[in-house]
This record gives sequence, structure tokens and C-alpha cells, in this order.
Amino acid sequence: MGVCFDKDYYEIRLESIGGLGANLAGKLLGELGALYLELNASSFASYGSEKRGSPVKSFIRYSKPDKEIRINCPVISPDMLVIFHDRLAGKPLVMAGVSEQTKVIVNTKESPEFIRNRFKMPAGELFVIDALKVAMENKTRVNMVLLGAVAKASGFIPLDSVESVISDTLGKKYPKSMEGNLKGIRAGFNGISGVVIQNDGKYPFEKYEEVKRLWGYDNAPLGGVNPIFGSSVSNDLSASREGYVPLFDKDKCINCGMCDIYCPDMVFQFVKGEYKGKESMVNIGPDYRHCKGCLRCVEVCPTEAITFGLESENDISKTNVDNVDLLTDNFNFDDVGANSWVESVSYTTNSEN
Ligand code: SF4
Ligand code: SF4
Repeated sequence: MGVCFDKDYYEIRLESIGGLGANLAGKLLGELGALYLELNASSFASYGSEKRGSPVKSFIRYSKPDKEIRINCPVISPDMLVIFHDRLAGKPLVMAGVSEQTKVIVNTKESPEFIRNRFKMPAGELFVIDALKVAMENKTRVNMVLLGAVAKASGFIPLDSVESVISDTLGKKYPKSMEGNLKGIRAGFNGISGVVIQNDGKYPFEKYEEVKRLWGYDNAPLGGVNPIFGSSVSNDLSASREGYVPLFDKDKCINCGMCDIYCPDMVFQFVKGEYKGKESMVNIGPDYRHCKGCLRCVEVCPTEAITFGLESENDISKTNVDNVDLLTDNFNFDDVGANSWVESVSYTTNSEN
């Protein structure tokens, strides 16, 4: 293979939220470098509870065959940054380390100009692609489309190498998905072009720094309680949906509660009411901010009161019901996406007790 890059290392950072396949994409990029590009390669990921909606960072490092990889720290100055969802905008560290040399790929339907401003990107080369739409059209997943985009944007990863690594790994395990996966990779490869953003001083360069919580797993006092709440109450999980949402038809609902039992995030809201002339807990609908789109509720509903639909074709803001138990009057999401937090005097006060 003709190489490729003129530095000691070529470094890639993937920024994502659980459920979009960034961890797998990182592993595949590592394998691609070592086995198909004749490079040295390493990859590792940092993620929390292995739950949809939690933040994921994946780090990939390539070096030429005569240069061993002797560092294992996170990628702080990426040559390429891949952002798996545009709702990660505003998260600490997402844009950290981006320089004029960085190529940034963002999964979004928005324009490069909009994304540049939304992410406050100081400079570099920006590629946007609606990977979710492409993935749905080709019956594959966002990570496959973005792998194709990474290959194209890199300028040195041939499309057939990506196809080979996918065929030799996922193809053996999931042969039925291969056609869609390969189509998605090709669509990602052929579907992007970059826009150079000059360093015009509009946004400052951001340095990558480790976030050290006041209390974490390694410094909380024995017997203490970690005050950084991480429950899904404080997380807006909308960004982990992959294009589909559950749609609720109240007229078909028999208030059996199956959706409430199976939903991992208390999305459906039940209040005291009346059903068939008797006092009953009544399902009044979903709080979509906590819905990550796993669609288990669709499978378990016995009356088809919940079906699934495309989020892009349904205005869910009209049918959204605020969580009746957990959201107080002055509760507001301060941010969206995984790891968002709430600003609520009462909630914060309670969590400190
Ligand atoms: S599972 Fe279906 S029928 Fe039962 S409460 Fe939920 S929406 Fe209603
Ligand atoms: S898709 Fe259904 S089960 Fe899954 S999180 Fe949303 S409401 Fe809950």
C-alpha cells in the first residue's frame, strides 16, 4: 500500500453515544490498520455503563511499520474526528484538540455552515453526511456508513480494504447483514466531500483536558455516596434513537402496563384515572426525552397500541407527555444527549441529601 501520512502517528477519535456502534467501528478501524493496511495499529474505547445513551469515545492510532506504537493515552490532537450525532454539540471535549489539520466528519442532516457554528469549530476540514438516513435506506447501521466516510476523508484508506475487513469479521458472524453493510460503506465513501474552514478567529481552539469529577470511582470516600447522578432521569436520550420512535394510540390501549414493565427508562406515563368504569392507572403517553428507541414496547404491547414509525415523519413534540413522577415544575434539561444534567433547585437539593 502506498502510504499515507507523514507524521509518527495518524490518530482518530470517535465521539458517540451508546447504541450507535462507535465502539465496534473503533475496533474495526484498528483491525483494518493492522491487517489490511500494513500499519501498526491500536484502538481502545472509553465508555460507561454499556447502555444506550451513555457517552462513548473510541481512540485509534496508526503508525508506519517501522514505528512502534508506544503510547496508549486518549487521542488529544486528532487527525480525524468523527462525531456520530450532531446532538453531541456543546459536550465538553467533543471538539477538543481540533486544529487546522483535523478532518471532522459529522453525522447530521444540517449544512456544513450550520454545523461549524453549532460545534464552534475553529478550523479544519469539515465533512457532513446524513448517515442515519443513508443507513436506513441501505438497511445497515450508522457506523458502517461512517466507516466508509472515514476511508474517503482519510485520503489513504482504500474502499476495498474497508469492505474486506467487514466481510472477514461481521460477514462471518452476520452474513445476512452483509449486503446492507457493504452498500452503507460504499454510500458513506461516495457520499461526502469536505469544506475547508479557515482559521478566521471566530471560535478559539480548545485543549483536551481530562475531566476529573469531585467524587468518582477512584476518589470517593469509603462508604460514601457518589453525588454525580447518572440516572436516566437526568439524561435526554433522544440522541440515541436511530431513526425510529414508538407511536402511541390511546384508543387501542387497554392499560395493561406491559410497556411500563419492559421499557428500561420509564417512558410511558401512568396516572390515576378510569378505565371501563373502574378506577385504574391509565397510560397517558410517552415522555420521548427518555426514549432511546429500543422498540421493546412495540414488541410487548398486546393490542398494537404502540407501533413504530420514522421519527422524521412524525412530530413527536405534539404527543410528548412530561414524566409525571420525576420532573418537577422547575425541572429543565440543561443540555441534550447523553450525560446531560438538570438544573432544578429541588432536584439538586434532594440529590444532596
Ligand atoms: S402495553 Fe400497550 S396496551 Fe398495555 S399499557 Fe402499554 S400501550 Fe397500553
Ligand atoms: S422504544 Fe419503547 S421500550 Fe424503548 S425506550 Fe422507548 S418507550 Fe421505552
